[in-house]
This record gives sequence, structure tokens and C-alpha cells, in this order.
Amino acid sequence: MTRPNVRVSFECFPPNTERGIAPLRSTVSALEPLKPEFVSVTYGAGGTTQDRTLDTLNDLKENTGVPLGGHLTCVGRSKAEVHAVVDQYEDMGVSHIVALRGDPPEGTPNGGRHPEGYADAAELVAGIRETSNVAISVAAYPEPHPKAVSAKADLDNLKRKLDAGADQALTQFFFDNDVFMRFLDQAEAAGITQPIIPGIMPINNFGGIQRFAERAGTTIPAHYHDLLEGLDETPTIRQLVAATIAAEQCQDLLNRGVTSFHLYTMNKPELSTAVCRMLGLRPDPQ
Ligand SMILES: Cc1cc2nc3c(=O)[nH]c(=O)nc-3n(C[C@H](O)[C@H](O)[C@H](O)COP(=O)(O)OP(=O)(O)OC[C@H]3O[C@@H](n4cnc5c(N)ncnc54)[C@H](O)[C@@H]3O)c2cc1C
Repeated sequence: MTRPNVRVSFECFPPNTERGIAPLRSTVSALEPLKPEFVSVTYGAGGTTQDRTLDTLNDLKENTGVPLGGHLTCVGRSKAEVHAVVDQYEDMGVSHIVALRGDPPEGTPNGGRHPEGYADAAELVAGIRETSNVAISVAAYPEPHPKAVSAKADLDNLKRKLDAGADQALTQFFFDNDVFMRFLDQAEAAGITQPIIPGIMPINNFGGIQRFAERAGTTIPAHYHDLLEGLDETPTIRQLVAATIAAEQCQDLLNRGVTSFHLYTMNKPELSTAVCRMLGLRPDPQ
């Protein structure tokens, strides 16, 4: 069977402690043979994980051969502080920046904008583009951002970010493929030509995902509750069900012509590897 040319990228978060680095290194080493476009490391809004994000990227650079992506948020930070991180990313050979506004702490005046900072992700992208040719991804929201004024305003905002010089968009995780396909149509109608890559979240902790989905405005299909509830005590069965759900979602997207996927790994290799395998990706022996 010939498979379309499937491309994947993986997202991780910086471990809370130094002891967490070695397991993450193992995760990324396990994913490396799948030849990801990049492996990205998230960045806490306001710079809360800045040191840990940089340390994690440094460690992955030294100990793996994957192309690296660094997330970067601008909320609560001056332009100088943000550009200092861009410079560090470039110095360490990070080839991809995921440029974001980030969420201010609840109740922060002025949307959390620093008096000498960027207002939003579109301004951040333009600022990075002034000095750098690094590949840039931005965030997209098939189910609009929970604080967006309207779906149209959210799409206009995505176009502004791409027009400012971003190369592609990575979406918030979603489970309803019809929602994503409609979003692609709306983006095309709005004149967006850059790739919009679906963000896929294999569910390894249903309770956690339900809380996360509520905050992000992601709909969980009703039948997922039937499939996943009550499996807390049987992690192996939960993994099998979760891998099947994520693989079915990706297979359906593949059938609809989608060939690039951004996988939220939650720092674990098993589910992402299983999904890639079901998509026809095999480890490159090189
Ligand atoms: C792929 C991906 C990766 C992410 N990685 C990180 C990360 O590493 N670190 C992190 O902290 N966060 C991360 N996020 C979350 C992101 O920072 C938040 O969703 C944030 O609220 C918006 O960031 P943005 O870059 O999309 O902002 P923008 O593009 O600047 O705005 C996004 C949308 O939100 C609306 N909006 C947001 N806030 C308001 C408001 N107060 N009032 C009115 N409208 C508003 C805007 O209308 C706009 O449509 C990620 C999200 C995605 C999808």
C-alpha cells in the first residue's frame, strides 16, 4: 500500500524539575526515528518557564538530532526581553519559533501587555521577522479562542499573524474533524494560503483533558465519555482505547486530504508513536 507523504511535528513541555529532563530526553529519542519536522518545547506565559524551556532545548540539542522549535509568548514582557530569547534560540540553533501572545494572569490590566511590549501575537511575529528568517508558526483555533469577540474576528486575527510573516499555523487540539475541515474552508475563503496543521491530542488522562478542553473551548464528543470513563484503574486498556481514538481521528483527516499533523505528546512517546505508525510512518533506520 502506498501512503501519502505524512509529516509530523511533536510538542513537549519543559519538565518541572531537573530530574524530569532525562525521561523527556528518552521520549524525544524514541520519537526521533519518525523524522519529525521539529520537536517544540512550550514556554510559560510571562516567561515563567523561560529558564526551563531554554535548558530543555539545550539538553535536546546536545543529546538528540531532532530539529528544535521554541515557543515564545510576549504577554507581560518588554520587546527587549522577548528579543533576548529570540537571540538565545537562534544562538542554540532552534530552527522554528511558535510565536504566541500567551495568557495574562486573570484580572491583569491592559490585557497583560507590558508598557514596552508587543500587544499580541501578530505584532510579535512582525517583530521577529524584522531581524530573523527563522521558521514561525502561530496558533489557530478551529473552535474559536474562548475570548475571541467572534469566529470572524478570530479568523481575521489569524490572517493578520500570517500576513505579518508567519509560515504556518498549528491548531488548538480538537476532536471533531468536521469542525476542522469547515475551519480550513473558512480560512481559504478569507484568503489564507499558508498551511494550517491540525493539533492532535491523544488522550492519556481523560480527567485532565476534560479540564483542559473546558478552558480551551474544545468540544469533547459525547461518545468519548462512554469510551474513556472508568478506565483510570486500567492504564493499559486506557492507552489502547486512547491510541485507537487518536489514530481514527488522524486516519479520517488523512482520508480527507490532510497530511501534516502536530501531536501534543504530553512528554510521553507511546501514544504519539502508535498514532504515527497507524498513519504509515515507520522509523527511519538512519
Ligand atoms: C499550538 C499552540 C501552542 C501554544 N503554546 C503555548 C505556550 O507555549 N505557552 C503559552 O503560554 N500558551 C501557549 N498556547 C496558548 C496561547 O498562548 C493562548 O491561547 C493565548 O490566549 C492566545 O495566544 P495567541 O498567540 O493565539 O494570541 P493572539 O493571536 O494574539 O490572540 C488570539 C485570539 O484570542 C482573542 N483574545 C485573546 N485574549 C483576548 C482578550 N483578552 N480579549 C479579547 N480577545 C482576546 C483574540 O481575539 C484572538 O482572536 C498555545 C496555543 C496553541 C494553539
